[in-house]
Amino acid sequence: MAVRYELIKTDKHTGARRGRLHTPHGTIETPVFMPVGTLATVKTMSPEELKDTGAQIILSNTYHLWLRPGHDIVQEAGGLHKFMNWDRPILTDSGGFQVFSLSDLRKITEEGVTFRNHLSGEKLFLSPEKAIEIENALGADIIMAFDECPPFPADRQYLKESLERTTRWAKRCKAAHAREHDQALFGIIQGGMDKELRRQSAEELLELDFPGYAVGGLSVGEPKDIMNEVLDFTVPLMPTNKPRYLMGVGSPDDLFEGVIRGIDMFDCVLPTRIARNGTCMTSVGKVVVRNATYARDFGPLDPNCDCYTCKNYSRAYIRHLIKCDETFGIRLTSIHNVHFLIKMMGDIREAIEEDRLLELKKSFYESYGYTL
Ligand SMILES: [Zn+2]
Repeated sequence: MAVRYELIKTDKHTGARRGRLHTPHGTIETPVFMPVGTLATVKTMSPEELKDTGAQIILSNTYHLWLRPGHDIVQEAGGLHKFMNWDRPILTDSGGFQVFSLSDLRKITEEGVTFRNHLSGEKLFLSPEKAIEIENALGADIIMAFDECPPFPADRQYLKESLERTTRWAKRCKAAHAREHDQALFGIIQGGMDKELRRQSAEELLELDFPGYAVGGLSVGEPKDIMNEVLDFTVPLMPTNKPRYLMGVGSPDDLFEGVIRGIDMFDCVLPTRIARNGTCMTSVGKVVVRNATYARDFGPLDPNCDCYTCKNYSRAYIRHLIKCDETFGIRLTSIHNVHFLIKMMGDIREAIEEDRLLELKKSFYESYGYTL
């Protein structure tokens, strides 16, 4: 078994779970936030810096690595861990989401998806078998089934056909998977915002007995309360003895809401993406460090943070770097933002252990400036 989930404790007042995910590259304490390293790098950060933030696992994108440098080159290098010098766990997505979000010219058939390379315009074809071939070559600890992620909103008939195709594709992914001994293949539950379709998708995929399950098709433009409602009826359909992963979600409130509903794993480009335009998440709320307010602010980015950035640099200095497009500036904000979410998840894990997650949520929301 490539991955084993161990449930340690369930919060007394919510559905939150404290667990451990054992993988070939180490054990992950859950719930966990996974920073995104699309092109085999979490933008601007070295693996050493990532480790200093406490990152336990990162996500990398199959679609991007397939196009550049090519999965064959990564395989020749000894796999993704070696290629990028990251010896902790890695998860790769299947490329499905990118095919649907980055490419405007696409044709979906039972066989797979024909689309144009978003860089060169060249015609490409991705199928369940091809996605798994690439993921097997990359060698991540956790790999995702090739699915279709329908847009929001989508009509019910389309959602139904799409989720049924996703089930058939999931079967083909499983059949094509050549490294079951050291890579865990997760299934992705689809069905849009429809309760019955989510149930159908979950039931069909559970029959295939994947070692873990993701909720896909959320955070695609729907309002937050709808996303939470979908989690309310979807998470209880997922097995309790397997990890549950909510794809593409990573704002602090979404992480709290997801954990409360029983999600164990999250990934999002948010902390690094907003860092690059000088926006930081801090214990006192969002700080847009490029604002003129901070020109003479010689205090740390976050007064309650002990990351490398906050220990050594001021808001005024970081603002200056970002204003001048100095790469060191976005490296400093990236380090802080990743550290912030990872520290927050550590606090969440501790709170679950002590049955005080709702109290933590309340105090976090108050200081961050969210309304409860
Ligand atoms: Zn910091």
